[in-house]
Amino acid sequence: MYSASELNAAQIQAVEAGDSPQLILAGAGSGKTRTIVHRIGHLISKRGFAPHRILTVTFTNKAAAELKSRLTGLIGDDGGGVVSGTFHAISLRFLRRYAGHLDFPRSFQVIDADDQKALVKRLLKSRNIDSEKLHPGYLISWIEHCKHEGLGADEAPAQIWNNIDLRELYVAYQDELRRLERMDFSDLLLNVVRLMRDFPDVASLIRSQFDHVLVDEYQDTNPVQHQWLLLLCQEHRNLTVVGDDDQAIYGWRGADVRHILDFERVWPNAGIHRLEENYRSFENILKLANAVIQANPHRHEKALRTTRGDGKVPDWIVCNDEYDEARRIVGVLKQRRAHGVGWQDMAVLYRSNRQSLPFEAVLREQDIPYQVIGGVGFFSRMEIKDALAYWALLHRCADSLQLLRICNTPKRGIGAKGQEAISRMLADSDLSAAGWLDQVAEGRGEGPAKKLEPLAQLISEQRSTAMSCADLGLGDLLESCGYVEALQARGEIEAVSRMENIRTLQDFIETSMGEGLQVADFMDQAALLQSGEEQDVDEAVSLMSLHRAKGLEFDTVIIAGVEDGLLPHQRSLDEGETGLHEERRLLYVGITRARDYLLLTSARMRRAFGDMVYPIPSRFISRLGDDVLRREASVSQPQQEASYSTQVQSGRRVRHPSFGEGVILSMEGAGDAARVTVRFQQAGTKRLMLKYAALEEI
Ligand code: ATP
Ligand code: MG
Repeated sequence: MYSASELNAAQIQAVEAGDSPQLILAGAGSGKTRTIVHRIGHLISKRGFAPHRILTVTFTNKAAAELKSRLTGLIGDDGGGVVSGTFHAISLRFLRRYAGHLDFPRSFQVIDADDQKALVKRLLKSRNIDSEKLHPGYLISWIEHCKHEGLGADEAPAQIWNNIDLRELYVAYQDELRRLERMDFSDLLLNVVRLMRDFPDVASLIRSQFDHVLVDEYQDTNPVQHQWLLLLCQEHRNLTVVGDDDQAIYGWRGADVRHILDFERVWPNAGIHRLEENYRSFENILKLANAVIQANPHRHEKALRTTRGDGKVPDWIVCNDEYDEARRIVGVLKQRRAHGVGWQDMAVLYRSNRQSLPFEAVLREQDIPYQVIGGVGFFSRMEIKDALAYWALLHRCADSLQLLRICNTPKRGIGAKGQEAISRMLADSDLSAAGWLDQVAEGRGEGPAKKLEPLAQLISEQRSTAMSCADLGLGDLLESCGYVEALQARGEIEAVSRMENIRTLQDFIETSMGEGLQVADFMDQAALLQSGEEQDVDEAVSLMSLHRAKGLEFDTVIIAGVEDGLLPHQRSLDEGETGLHEERRLLYVGITRARDYLLLTSARMRRAFGDMVYPIPSRFISRLGDDVLRREASVSQPQQEASYSTQVQSGRRVRHPSFGEGVILSMEGAGDAARVTVRFQQAGTKRLMLKYAALEEI
């Protein structure tokens, strides 16, 4: 079925190992996933197991589909019969049959994230707990954390937060779900564990469905998944797991790398296989990977050899800022393309999704097809669309859809009927959305439009100061109209990242304006970037987070933002050693995605959360020698030091026509792009464009 050119001796041994637990512990690119596929093929074609009695578990639906397609390629239609899915999907399948034992109807539904949040909010409201005291998002994360650990409401540890008993709320939450005949995502796994643990008859029925169970990326299993596998396979013991402890990157979601390291103890007499040949990357890429990961303690030492030759030493370039970074990276992508590499064989990886924007903008500008994987493209995100709608109204270039989009966000008591009425009034008025809103500001709004009067007045007041702010008034408007507060009060776990995105948008506006772009041009550009995601994706550069890149490979890989604060991420730096080790593994995962060419980049300055930061290169790479990472002599020069006007110096007291008196804190840039940060007594700290700010020295 396979020739020696397809599998090496160690892989063949793992593929042909008999009926007992098997652990394949091996480094990146050593053919672990390939071995799983061939082992399944072997079980079916050589050992006669029925395809539907083989179960493979993966971490994403995409990985499950990929595994099946590789299998069909290997053994034909039989491959299609193998049961393949995520832990959640397989759990749902079991529960559809046996949920009755847990007093759920078999037709129970899985609650989606929105409904889950709404439910938790209702629960807190009924107890008069406001979100200041306990954020709904916090409660949801805590419950999820318990569930990842395998702890139901009755087993969770006592936890008091601001004098509120979280465990009691966990119980109430589960009661409410039960009443609604719903389960949440994490319940699926927990309930299967409960079924198998508490109902021996059901457990043997479930166990008897499969003869072999195989798990890819085992290093990222959490305790409840671990119990799930233990209960499922304890009779036949035919469990094959593959993984790499150096690629464990989900500790923050409760995954515990010890499961892979403890495998031999939990499953006595397990077959252990080590694959030491790397088929993916050139030697020099592996050298860098090894140099990075070596600094982590408690590893299973793995020696990786490659059959592919040395290749080029990976490059590292230090750029001026994130836009310089994006332009230089795109330059490299174009060179690779000229060397015959397809766009689909290139990836730009980053730590944080908010980094995608400059790449999207430059790729779009240069007409290079791209796709943002596993995330919504920047301009399609809810909060970005909302923010742009507000901003367009402020600058009189909004259309009616944008007005309708935000008329009840935050809530202003305008329901669906009210929105319909507003939409009709707008259409009948023959005015632009902003023009119509001006009339409302003057008290001429009727019916539901009356409810927009405070907003309309606010917008018309803020027009006078908007042009002097570096973000042309966006931040101020979103604050004062209550949007920011409402966003935070929604209690979503993503609230923080949504705020980060809005700040990134403010930065982007600032950069674009510095380059002389007008508001209307900016809106056009945003609309184009939005449509960019509908491009043909067969031949496109991939943009994705390092987490998303797990298990994938590309000819050309670029890792952007390799700086302290991003990689390692600030959160992990604050957390201490464990977090730092996980971040190092994340860089290792990124590096080992590359087959032929690898480039790391960092920037000298970067806009982050409305501020300019001056990061230092990541501690993971800063001390590496030129033999493993070749630092390119910088081609682009650092920007000219700004020649500040002598009157405008930090510490000076100034007066702004609308914000009043304040003190200059700092300045950046020069000429038309010069910006000044002022702390005003009343209006708080603002970053203003010097050109428009009309500051008067006092
Ligand atoms: P990761 O740790 O990143 O998930 P992996 O160990 O699962 O990697 P695979 O994706 O299975 O590795 O294989 C890496 C690459 O090497 C693939 O392109 C695969 O087709 C190729 N490969 C694996 N084994 C062999 C082999 N024996 N001969 C030729 N190519 C191989
Ligand atoms: Mg793999």
